[in-house]
Amino acid sequence: MQIINRPSEVSLICSHAKGTIGLVPTMGALHEGHLSLVRKAREMCDFVIVSDFVNPHQFGEGEDYDKYPRVPDKDAALCEKEGADILFAPSAADMYPRGFSTWVEVKGLTDILEGEIRPIHFRGVTTVCLKLFNITRCGKAFFGQKDFQQVCVIRKMTKELNLPLDIVRCPIVRDPDGLAKSSRNAYMTFGERERALCISRAMFAARRAVENGCRAVEEIEKTALEEIMKSRPVAVDYVTVRDPETLMPAENAAGSVLLAAVRYENVRLIDNILLY
Ligand code: AMP
Repeated sequence: MQIINRPSEVSLICSHAKGTIGLVPTMGALHEGHLSLVRKAREMCDFVIVSDFVNPHQFGEGEDYDKYPRVPDKDAALCEKEGADILFAPSAADMYPRGFSTWVEVKGLTDILEGEIRPIHFRGVTTVCLKLFNITRCGKAFFGQKDFQQVCVIRKMTKELNLPLDIVRCPIVRDPDGLAKSSRNAYMTFGERERALCISRAMFAARRAVENGCRAVEEIEKTALEEIMKSRPVAVDYVTVRDPETLMPAENAAGSVLLAAVRYENVRLIDNILLY
């Protein structure tokens, strides 16, 4: 595996690569969730690139850009082990040279849910992803369902800008007790982690309810919120049942997605589950 920092160098290598190029965009501090994406890319593609870049433009003011975990050596060892061909770790200065002023925005879909709470977040995500797609010329890009809205936004951008690549959505990887894996889980105290288990419990309970025939969106939302409130969160940003493509409020719980964002003292967590 090659570790490369310069975008132009990655472009050059990719222009000579044979077969399908698979890209796994990450912000590093890799865990099993990220590695499941790398494995999927390895399975489906001939040449696999993992990008490791804490993108400053997707963090709002007062968010955790400065304290976001950075463990480049560990990330490199994990990518090597999974058989990635390139680990692309650019600097912010190389990705956003002085005077950078071009932004990609998916309107509407980015004004709700995460976008409502984190107004500049998706503009940063779509811009960096389009740059990564162009640098690598990937035929497939792999994203986790963990960031459900992100995949919807990236898919919409890809479709509307006629980008020549497939977006592959990979399932959420969880700890054995149900907590969705996240680099930000490291911020939690033991007590917070115990409390946060309510979120995945609420997700699984909602799925069971739909499996048992419940179709009432309000009932699913109310039950999920009650379960989450048992953990005494600092705030619940949303607990909502949505259409899995448009993310508009669902009319029927069957075929929808339940999404939640919950704050504890040291962390803000998101989770979701498809209700089929
Ligand atoms: P991040 O480093 O948080 O930007 O995540 C990089 C990619 O890994 C995104 O597509 C995430 O959705 C995905 N990812 C993060 N956590 C998980 C998880 N627990 N299961 C599956 N994919 C994940």
